[in-house]
Amino acid sequence: MKVILAKEYGFCFGVRRVLKILDEQLAQNKEVFSIGEIIHNHVVIERYREKGVRFVEKPTEVEEGVGVVRAHGLPQSMISEAEHFGREIIDGTCAFVRHISKIIQKEREIHPDFSIYLVGEPEHPEVIAATADLNGMVKVIDYRTFDPVQFRVPPRAVLLSQTTLEEDVFIKIAGYFIREGQEVFVYNTICPSTRKRQRAARELAQQVDAVVVLGGKKSSNTRRLYEICQAIKPSFLVERIFEIPVEELKKYEVVGVTAGASTPDEVIQEALHYLQNL
Ligand code: SF4
Repeated sequence: MKVILAKEYGFCFGVRRVLKILDEQLAQNKEVFSIGEIIHNHVVIERYREKGVRFVEKPTEVEEGVGVVRAHGLPQSMISEAEHFGREIIDGTCAFVRHISKIIQKEREIHPDFSIYLVGEPEHPEVIAATADLNGMVKVIDYRTFDPVQFRVPPRAVLLSQTTLEEDVFIKIAGYFIREGQEVFVYNTICPSTRKRQRAARELAQQVDAVVVLGGKKSSNTRRLYEICQAIKPSFLVERIFEIPVEELKKYEVVGVTAGASTPDEVIQEALHYLQNL
């Protein structure tokens, strides 16, 4: 079997940064708490659990020691509340997630009569982190149920995207807003890492007979990669390569491999080694 790796794959800027923060705190022999799953990957979470990191849901649950906020963030108000009660918190929220809240606040000031929309998954931690403190300033459009026939675009609107959205999906919804609205400002806030991985996944799927997408089942950007590949070639989404249905995969001569932004290198190397020896 010939195996081709995508040109862009694996850990992104935000994931590397938050894991570096955890490592630095552990190196100082501190009691370290991860607030929320630090990233959406079980292999990484278990690795840090073994190193002594404790996982809690809320910043106020941090005891003696330091709490690190996950890459996809928490509402600033939750962090401030914990700090108010004397907890030491390091905000590991990715800058691209915080950027969305900043744009919304700025738009509210300069265009107070515009309706602001964020396209994404309303239940995703990143969407909650970016919008929870904005007192209803922004409405979330669930792209999975968005129906242009039912949706009335207001004359003045601002549109942003979740950082891990599939670009084509956002472009379609933005196009609809531009056609139907009178004054529409569109911010493509899909992060560069997501965009590069999606483009590379599409390119890869066009060259191979099937694609293996490695990543956590809860990882939004991994699922997007899977959806992109699946639309082009038969694709398999697995957290570890050992979950793959081997007999089915053996039918393909050229197999592509890509990985979400929270998939560690060791999982990717393990998969390459396994596939090359099939
Ligand atoms: S996927 Fe993008 S927004 Fe999310 S942590 Fe990585 S760089 Fe940041």
